[in-house]
This record gives sequence, C-alpha cells and structure tokens, in this order.
Amino acid sequence: MTDEKAQTQEFKLDPDCELRFEVESKNEKVMLELKSGLAEVFGTELVKGKKYEFIAGAKVAVFTWQGCTVELVGKTDVSYVAKETPMGLYLNCHAAMERLREAAEKEDTRGPITMVVGPCDVGKSTLCRLLLNYAVRMGRRPIFVDLDVGQGHIAIPGTVGALLVERPSNVVDGFGVSLWAQIATGQRCSVQSSQVCSDRLQANKKARVSGIVINTCGWVKGDGYKLLTHAAQAFEVDAILVLDQERLYNELVRDMPDFVKVVFLPKSGGVVERSQAQRTEARDQGVREYFYGSRTPLYPHSFEVKWNEARLYKIGAPVLPASCMPLGMKAEDNLTKLVAVTPGPNLLHHLLSVSFADSPEDDVVQTNVAGFVCVTNVDVDRQTFTVLSPQPRPLPNTVLLLSDIQFMDSH
Ligand code: ATP
Repeated sequence: MTDEKAQTQEFKLDPDCELRFEVESKNEKVMLELKSGLAEVFGTELVKGKKYEFIAGAKVAVFTWQGCTVELVGKTDVSYVAKETPMGLYLNCHAAMERLREAAEKEDTRGPITMVVGPCDVGKSTLCRLLLNYAVRMGRRPIFVDLDVGQGHIAIPGTVGALLVERPSNVVDGFGVSLWAQIATGQRCSVQSSQVCSDRLQANKKARVSGIVINTCGWVKGDGYKLLTHAAQAFEVDAILVLDQERLYNELVRDMPDFVKVVFLPKSGGVVERSQAQRTEARDQGVREYFYGSRTPLYPHSFEVKWNEARLYKIGAPVLPASCMPLGMKAEDNLTKLVAVTPGPNLLHHLLSVSFADSPEDDVVQTNVAGFVCVTNVDVDRQTFTVLSPQPRPLPNTVLLLSDIQFMDSH
C-alpha cells in the first residue's frame, strides 16, 4: 500500500497545458484519473472519476483547454507538464474543416478530404486521431483512411485500411485493432482504396459531408514522395497538412495544383521518437493482437491446408522497363498485377490475406479482405501448410494473397 502511495502523482494543469507521460517497463501499469475539470487524450474526453489503465509502451498526452487536476498511480518513466503545445493550431485546422463540412451540408456536396503527411515520428497518426475525434464530437461521421503500411492503425501492419468513424477513439487503445474495421484493401495498392472510399461517400450522406482524413507513412523521399502525390491525386484531396518538414512542405506547394491547400504545422514537442527496434516490435505487436487480442484475449485456431486446395496469389509483378511491356500497358500496371504463387517453404511465417474475391478473374486488388491468417509451418512431404486463423477450419474457398509481412508466432 505504501508502495502504491509513493507512486501516486497529482498534477494541476492550467488551461492549454498538457501532461505527458510514458510507461516503459514491462509488466508496469499506470492508472490515469481525471479528478476535476475537463481534459482529453488525443481528442477523446476523459470521464471524471474513471480509471484508465496504460501498459508498457504507452506514450500519452492529457491536454486541457479549461484546466484540470489529474492523478497518475503507478510507475511512469517520464511525466511532466508542458505549457507549449501546437494544439491551438491543430484546433484551427479542425475549425477550417468544420466550415467546409457546413458548406458541404448546405450545397449537398462532399466534405473536406485532408491528408496528413510528414517524416517518421512527428505525430501524424496522433493528429489524424485528434481531427477525427473532434469531428465525431461535433456529430460528424468521417472516414479514416490509413495508408501507413508500416504502423497501420486500422488493420494489421502491411495493409491499408479505411474505417467509418462513428465514435471517439478509445482513450487507451485508440481506434483499436480492427477485426471490426472495414478493411478496404491489401498490400501495395493504397491508391485503389480511394475508389472504395468514394463509393462509400456516395452511399452515405453523413459520411459524404464529413469527409475523409488520411494518414500516411513517414517515407517522404524519392518513391515515397511519389506515392504521396499519387495518393493525393487519387483521393482528390482538398488539403495536405505537413508536419514538421519545411522541405516537404515546399515540394508539395510546388507540385500540387492550386486548389489543394498545403498547410505547414509544427510537431508537438511531446511526440516520442521510436527506434527501428521499437518500430519492429510495434509492428509485431499489431499482428499479435490481431490473432491473440490485447485486453480481451482471443483464441485463434490452427489447422492444415493442402497445397492443392489453396488458391494463392500475390499482388505485384516485377516492374519491367516500358520497352518490355505489352502494347498499351504501363510499367506501373505491373505493381497491381495478380501473380499466381506456388506453395512451398517460401510461405513460412508469412501473412496471407483472405480475400472476398472468389476467383482471380475478379478485381482482387479492389476487393475487401475478410481477414488474415499466418503460415506457421510448411510440410513439404505431405504438401500442406499450417495456418493460424481467427476462424475455425476450413478457410473460405476464396483467393489468398501472400504478403511480405512475416510474423513468428511464439505462443
Ligand atoms: P510514424 O511515422 O511511425 O507513423 P507518427 O508520425 O504517426 O509516427 P505518432 O504515432 O502520432 O507519430 O506519435 C508517436 C508517438 O508519440 C505515439 O506513441 C504517440 O502516442 C506519442 N505522442 C504523440 N503526441 C504526443 C504528445 N503530445 N505527448 C506525448 N506523447 C505523444
């Protein structure tokens, strides 16, 4: 009991300040409680008197517009109050988007499509979460598109996803791993998901007026930059929010058409940099949670699949020089081409997406995926492979897509 007392910290925050804390040590838990006033975590309001539990890996900011008192119980590795934050600027972006939504509502057009870009560790995902939460709190229903294949927040790493946001994100888990999300499409085809979103906007007026917030990955040089501009075009974005990097900002001002508003925003001093090892761990954790759950445990199934019963493909053939391509095809077309894969030891530890497409003749690239399985063993003699699957056997008789993402199941 004394131990716990010693680890109780109370913070009185003035208006426009934020408490930042991190939990690093394994098996450590920190409880956050709002004692008085009003406060939010990345745009989600805290409920007074409710205890929020954070575990190792959590990097949190509790921000208050009005002033508040909060309590932390447990061992934090870092905890301090910051007075300087870019929250006012971020709120202005939300206000500008909200004005566009009001206009869209009156004129029955579509709301703002906003893309957030910047290098690694500048708070892109956090800004998306904030903008989405503020929108939902105003009664909007925006679509969140996550093109960050490295650290995807909707589906599992290695995929891109889209999610209709109907309530503020969970204070502890964010928008969560999304067995429950609508996963739009698979690897390397980020741009294709724009079509899926556009169809959805057509179908749902509330979403149409609310618009889209797009998160991107921190690869902003060379081909990474090309992908960004490509995505901006495909989604027909109205605004690009550039976090932290002036060079990227200037490039986008130069390359985007005039009707795209490019806005520079500073990053928050609270954003925590992650090492390559931490990124890899976060990626693994994302996959682990997909199969095994986090707070609520999930119990995946394991079963064998015969090689000759699996219809296995991958997306993307090697890019050939234009001169080698058949007439009328562009070199980039190969990136989204469906290629048959022969099962073998090459599958080991790879994730396979289970497509809703019944046959390779369907438009597999644009078809949603039902979920993912992981190949945990390959038996060459018996010509079978074993999968870890959220669903019991058998696998649906649909197309399986081999991904580059590997996961070592240590359970
Ligand atoms: P990546 O390039 O990997 O996609 P990113 O630019 O999207 O990263 P975030 O994931 O938003 O960056 O932020 C990195 C980490 O910093 C997250 O763990 C987030 O919770 C934390 N973080 C963001 N803003 C703050 C803040 N103001 N105070 C404390 N921690 C923060």
